[in-house]
Amino acid sequence: MNKDAIIIGGGIIGCSIALRLASEGLSVAIIERGKIGCEASRAAAGMLCPQTEKLEPGAYFDLCLRSRSMYSDFAARVKELSGIDSEYRDEGTIFVALDENDEEESRLWTDWQKGAGLSLERLTVDELKKLEPSVRDSIAGGVFIPGDHQIENRLLMDALSVAVRRAGVTVIEGREASSITVGDNRATGVICEGERMESGAVIVAAGSWSGRLLENFLPQVNIIPARGQMIALRGDRVPMTRVLHSKRCYVIPRRDGRILIGATVEYAGFHKAITAQGINSLLEAAIELAPDLAGFEIVETWCGLRPDTEDHLPIIGESGIDNLLLATGHFRNGILLAPLTAELISELVLRRRAPTETLAFGVGRFKEGFAQSQARD
Ligand SMILES: Cc1cc2nc3c(=O)[nH]c(=O)nc-3n(C[C@H](O)[C@H](O)[C@H](O)COP(=O)(O)OP(=O)(O)OC[C@H]3O[C@@H](n4cnc5c(N)ncnc54)[C@H](O)[C@@H]3O)c2cc1C
Repeated sequence: MNKDAIIIGGGIIGCSIALRLASEGLSVAIIERGKIGCEASRAAAGMLCPQTEKLEPGAYFDLCLRSRSMYSDFAARVKELSGIDSEYRDEGTIFVALDENDEEESRLWTDWQKGAGLSLERLTVDELKKLEPSVRDSIAGGVFIPGDHQIENRLLMDALSVAVRRAGVTVIEGREASSITVGDNRATGVICEGERMESGAVIVAAGSWSGRLLENFLPQVNIIPARGQMIALRGDRVPMTRVLHSKRCYVIPRRDGRILIGATVEYAGFHKAITAQGINSLLEAAIELAPDLAGFEIVETWCGLRPDTEDHLPIIGESGIDNLLLATGHFRNGILLAPLTAELISELVLRRRAPTETLAFGVGRFKEGFAQSQARD
């Protein structure tokens, strides 16, 4: 096999890049050791919520906002190609301040976001209860963020799986890329279960497992799995319209009648497990936010591994090895960041020019001893 680009990893990041490159006329293959979208991208909650995430102002926040602004078109394009509707929903998101402390803290991020010209609306208790009557009575107020949306990421992955194939991408499922071939500081292809595959560009989009492919070339890049546990409930109705956030959890209404509750952030290696403590903490937090949920049935629990980095920022762009590009470490916002990551990596492949947005997210920021110098959360 000889391709213009081989992408290792068929999560949302790999698929979005593949779709973009194939749409530009390149011959592209995805190597996915399981099935397309079988890891973090399926486990996710599908929130497109940079404002509610209370990120700091700066390059990362700007990246998230730009990707958010691309989402509606991205979802429409994937639907057009696949015939599958990923239920992109734009009702907005509400942050609920459960007590005066939350209310006080929320003033800090709402003030600077407003100052930056972003759209949000502080809500009184009455206003919030009118919008979302299922929220408990004793709250201190809240914030409505109309631009923070959601997508049904499982449907999106189903849709992408069809879309990439229809766009002409060669999808190799059930096979693991074991290494990247490099000669004279230039990537030339991938070894996949003993078979050598040649490629003009190799793109590592292997989520939490990306570090294993890079350890020979970039030992300073540490990709750390951050486990997230989730629960789905079902009742006789869906009592909320919008995504609701409290300080302790989020609650997401889905069109199929499920209500998703998420998510824990745990550093437990690659161990995928649903724990009593994880489920207990999520249920407590959700019932604290919307007491009626106490009577709902638990229909599903699952977990996934977010690809995290030492500074919790993604790695997007050049690797220092010619033709080897990185698109990984998207941590809590990989669903959100997929369309923009795809655009930036495509720019690099097609025009061999690093877009300015990628400069802050390169591997150059990781030096020896970096891990020790950063405080973990
Ligand atoms: C519980 C939870 C909730 C989340 N909620 C949100 C949210 O609301 N909004 C948001 O934006 N983000 C959210 N995220 C984060 C988001 O899911 C991730 O950032 C994103 O899915 C990362 O995508 P990816 O394609 O890099 O990784 P993955 O989806 O993990 O895909 C990587 C793929 O690479 C494959 N692979 C690995 N190694 C190899 C190899 N050697 N050869 C071949 N294939 C390989 C794997 O099988 C996998 O399919 C959440 C994550 C979790 C776990």
